[in-house]
Amino acid sequence: MIQLPKHISDLTPYKAGQSAAEIQRLYGIDNVAKLASNENPLGSSPKAILAVQSALHNCSLYPDGGQALREVLAAKFGRMTEEIICHSGSDALIHLTLRTFLEAGDELISSHGTFIGFQVAAKLHGFNPQYIPQTDDYRFDLEAIFAAITSRTKIIYLANVNNPTGTYFTKEEFEWLIERVPTSVLVIMDEAYSEYSKDIMPDFLDSLRYNYPNMLTLRTFSKVYGLAGFRVGYGIANEEIVAPMLRTKLPFEPNTLGQIAAIAALEDTDFLEKSVALNTEGIRLFTKEFTRLGLKHPHSAGNFVMIDCTNPDIAQQLYMALLRKGFITRPLGGFSLPHCIRISTGTKDQNKRLIEAMEAIVPLVFQDYL
Ligand code: PLP
Repeated sequence: MIQLPKHISDLTPYKAGQSAAEIQRLYGIDNVAKLASNENPLGSSPKAILAVQSALHNCSLYPDGGQALREVLAAKFGRMTEEIICHSGSDALIHLTLRTFLEAGDELISSHGTFIGFQVAAKLHGFNPQYIPQTDDYRFDLEAIFAAITSRTKIIYLANVNNPTGTYFTKEEFEWLIERVPTSVLVIMDEAYSEYSKDIMPDFLDSLRYNYPNMLTLRTFSKVYGLAGFRVGYGIANEEIVAPMLRTKLPFEPNTLGQIAAIAALEDTDFLEKSVALNTEGIRLFTKEFTRLGLKHPHSAGNFVMIDCTNPDIAQQLYMALLRKGFITRPLGGFSLPHCIRISTGTKDQNKRLIEAMEAIVPLVFQDYL
């Protein structure tokens, strides 16, 4: 038998969430709403779909490694093409960053209850990051993260907003940290939801307004652009950071159609504005209604809200009760938050139906707790 390295045999396989078709079949419900993966409920940008349709005949050729998209993004953000890297989703960029910069003995720091993709990537590469406890209001504790830095720290991973809590840190908190972190430590700023966040919080921190030599900003086309299935994300940093990552990246990623979809989606301001406006309305509704129902939930600047059910049994009951009513949400055991579930915003109709379902379910599930 082929012997597996211990850090690989210790990995828990990724369990994809249930599909709408499966829930439809299991519970005999039409109109199942998948509010589990922070996807865009409006689908994909129509301009992206058109562009992909007319590019289908070009797929016998190898992709250009993201070059065309890098040039478009460079013009959009006023950066050099050499400062931009594209890959198969920002998840792949997290893996690539760890693969490029880490060596035995290096240390990583992040926060408890952060994005599962980072936790998995670290494990997969044989590292065990230090996860600093969150503040009482579910936010990253940047002072405690700073205090945890040692001479071996190589990478700090910060998700702003954080998935699954939806919480964020302020410009002042970020500046306090980044000005103190040694330049030998790479700070990853994962901003998968920034397009939504800026509308919800007009003074939301945009890391691309800063130009620190040891900072890498990650963004994605999977969320507001509605292209999760195409797998395209990008990173922006100084050339000294991007150049080694380009050397490590598989040469033909991202794929041709994903890149074409992403370029067209960037031009589709109409779809972007509609998606952002729908989400802001959904987040306001969830915030107001969850508060009215007495649910503990941090204010979110993403396209999802986390509900803290205070114990894992109640979280599981709430998840199952919603499932039986046709709402697929996300239990957060894998994120080390087994007492919580996460609900993504949907279409207006899905949001309205979700609140109606919650009104019926919450008093039963939480009868001894609220
Ligand atoms: N980073 C965060 C914080 C996320 O929430 C997600 C997806 O849920 C990703 C990265 C990965 O996105 P992508 O689809 O680009 O790999």
